[in-house]
Amino acid sequence: MSSIDSKKIKDEIHNHKEWFVNRLKKYVEVESPTDDIIQNRKLLHSIADDFRELGFDVEWKESVLSAGQLVCILNSVESEHDQLMIGHADTVWPVGTMEQMPWSMDENVIRGPGVYDMKAGIVMMQLAVKVANELDIKPFLRPVVMITSDEETGSKDSWNEIEEIAKSVKRVLVPEPSMGLDGKIKTERKGSGRYHITVKGREAHSGVEPEKGVSAIVEMAHIIRKLDELNDYNQGISLNVGLITGGKAVNIVPGECSIEVDLRYLNHSDGEEINKSIKRLETELAGASITVEGGLRRPPLVKNDRNQNLWELAQTCAEELDLKIEEGLSGGGSDGSITSQFTATLDGMGAVGEGAHSPSEKILLNETLDRAALLTALLLADDVG
Ligand SMILES: [Zn+2]
Repeated sequence: MSSIDSKKIKDEIHNHKEWFVNRLKKYVEVESPTDDIIQNRKLLHSIADDFRELGFDVEWKESVLSAGQLVCILNSVESEHDQLMIGHADTVWPVGTMEQMPWSMDENVIRGPGVYDMKAGIVMMQLAVKVANELDIKPFLRPVVMITSDEETGSKDSWNEIEEIAKSVKRVLVPEPSMGLDGKIKTERKGSGRYHITVKGREAHSGVEPEKGVSAIVEMAHIIRKLDELNDYNQGISLNVGLITGGKAVNIVPGECSIEVDLRYLNHSDGEEINKSIKRLETELAGASITVEGGLRRPPLVKNDRNQNLWELAQTCAEELDLKIEEGLSGGGSDGSITSQFTATLDGMGAVGEGAHSPSEKILLNETLDRAALLTALLLADDVG
C-alpha cells in the first residue's frame, strides 16, 4: 500500500460519513439482546443482505441455541489464503432500552444501545470492503466475515465454528471496540473462568440445638477467604466472589450456601494453576461438603510473535494514514481470544468511544471513521503479519 492509496482510502472513508451513520442507525434500531433469538435473526437478516450487496456469498449457520452465525465470503477475490473479520450482532441491552437510551447524534457523538459494542464495528467491516470495491483495490487475502449472535454470553454456540474458521485463515481482524477515548488497540486480553461453588452443612434449630448443626455459611466464609488469597493483582490474577446465597431463616443453622466466582488471568499457565486450586478446595468443618462446578472459559489473548507481527503491520498502516495508535490490555474476553489460539489476531480494531455495557455507551464518529480507514488499509495489506 503506498501512501497515496492511504490518503485516498482515508478521504473515501470520510466521504461515506452519512452512509456510515444511516447504516449504524438501522442496526441499532433492531435491538438484539443475546437471548432474544427472534430479534437477533431479524438483525442477522438485515446484515446478511448488506454483505450480499457488497458481493459476499453469505451462509447462515442456523441453530436452536442462538440466532446462529453468518459466514460471508468475498469470492470475487482470488487468493489461496483467507483473512477473517469477526464480530457479533448481539448486545447486552434488553428490548425496550431504546426508550431510555435512544439513538442520538450530537455533532461527533453517537449514542444508542450497542452502538460501541459492537454495531459500529460491523458497519466498519462493510465500509472497509465498500471503499476497497469503489477504489477498485483488491485485497491480497480473500476476506471472510463471521458475524455471531452469542458473544455477550460466552460464545458457547459459535465457539466450534469460530475455531474451525480461525484454523483456516492467515489473520484475524476483530472490530470490537477499542479502549478508551484514545482508542487503544487490544493486543492483550485476560482469560476468564466462572465457578459455581456450593457448600452443604446440616440444618438445626439455632436456639434449641445449635451444636447439632453444621453451618454452610461459616464453611463458605472459610472458602471465600481461601479464594481471596489466590488474588494476585500484580500478576494480573483476580477472583471476584460476585454473588452469594444461603440460609433459610435467622433461627436456622444454614444447611446450604453457594457463590458465583469470576476469575481473570493473564497467561495460560496461571489460568490452569488457579483452576486446579479452585477445584481442590477443601472444607474445614466436620460434616460440611463442597462441590465446585464450572472452569476456565475464554482463553487469554497473549502477545505471541504472530500477534505482535500483525500489531506491527497495523502500526505501519496507521503511520501511512497519519494516525497515532497505541496498544492496551483489556480485562474482558472476546472471540479474538478464541481465534488467537490458532492464528494471528488483532483485537479492538473497532469504534473509538466509551461506555460499553453502560448507559453512557457512545462512539466518536470521526475517530471511528479514521479507524475504519485503518481497518481498510489492513484488509488490503499484503504482508500476512
Ligand atoms: Zn463486544
